[in-house]
Amino acid sequence: MILTDLSYFELLDYVQKMGLPRFRGEQIFDAIYSGKNLEEISNLPKGLKEQLLSIYPKYQILYKFESKDGTIKFLIKLDDDNAIESVLMKYKYGYTVCISTQVGCRMGCKFCASTLGGLVRNLTAGEMLGQILLINKFLGGKGSDRKITNVVLMGSGEPLDNYDNTIKFIELLSSQRGLNISQRNISISTCGLVDKIYQLADLKLNITLTISLHATSDEKRKSIMPIANRYTIKEIIDACKYYYKQTKRKIYFEYTLIADVNDSGEDQKSLKNILNGFLCHVNVIPLNTVKERSLKKTTRLMAYQFVEGLKKLGVSATVRRTMGEDIGGACGQLRANLLKL
Ligand code: SAH
Repeated sequence: MILTDLSYFELLDYVQKMGLPRFRGEQIFDAIYSGKNLEEISNLPKGLKEQLLSIYPKYQILYKFESKDGTIKFLIKLDDDNAIESVLMKYKYGYTVCISTQVGCRMGCKFCASTLGGLVRNLTAGEMLGQILLINKFLGGKGSDRKITNVVLMGSGEPLDNYDNTIKFIELLSSQRGLNISQRNISISTCGLVDKIYQLADLKLNITLTISLHATSDEKRKSIMPIANRYTIKEIIDACKYYYKQTKRKIYFEYTLIADVNDSGEDQKSLKNILNGFLCHVNVIPLNTVKERSLKKTTRLMAYQFVEGLKKLGVSATVRRTMGEDIGGACGQLRANLLKL
């Protein structure tokens, strides 16, 4: 356990059980939410800091890579020396942070760098939150006066494969006593763990569900995403419809365009049939090529043409802005490079 795993009230409880007055708990909470490390806290006695040594987060920003487009990719070192990536993107409406939910990933998608070394371990809720707190501090934000407006769980890892920690993280992030980020501004991206989508739907959170679809037939999907051996596209769509029924939130689909794999006119028609009749939107993303993978990139122009084809069929779609391509913007690319060093 680290202290960022605890909500405000849990932390006050914990500190009280240590035999300390409530105001100490509040001081510790403020320090954590200001992204301070233990040495930077000036209002706690030395003895208490020593007591907190094993539970106070020690994660730190190891490297920052800044893209020409302003996107910054952070490599963050965890307490156990594992490294994860988080990405900061500036949009007109504010700052979005893309966080990792696991060290590595076990989903095995053929185009993705995060999964190259398999799953190392799950992140705790506090480690997910830590990514936000560190970047918020980097932006000059403090506690409730925060700079980050939106959070997407789209970095390395499969959030629904780390379900309990992910849910706890969303609760911490949207808590009024925490950073108070509206659930409407939180998106979770999944390769489609159907049973977990049903579980999530029943929580009736206000978060946005995004499905990494990437193919229009089960056969094709199996060739790029091993998870397709477990769940069919139909099962995923049924789960999405249930999610919509429970939450009334529009569902988003990610469609990474791979040359000669999923970019044909037939694919457009199949997508239309799959997504017929419910509120959803397709984000088309040109593949970010990963050296270790042999899949072929599509151009931005091809992505625009693909989207135009979808729109003509009545499917709501846009080309996702690619950000930070020059700094290894795609999932897991930085960490994969680091592991090679
Ligand atoms: N496991 C989750 C979240 C992490 S991946 C999921 O599958 O959704 C986040 C998104 O980035 C997914 O849509 C994924 O398919 C996409 N992605 C991964 N590698 C990519 C690459 N090389 N180029 C383009 N998109 C990629």
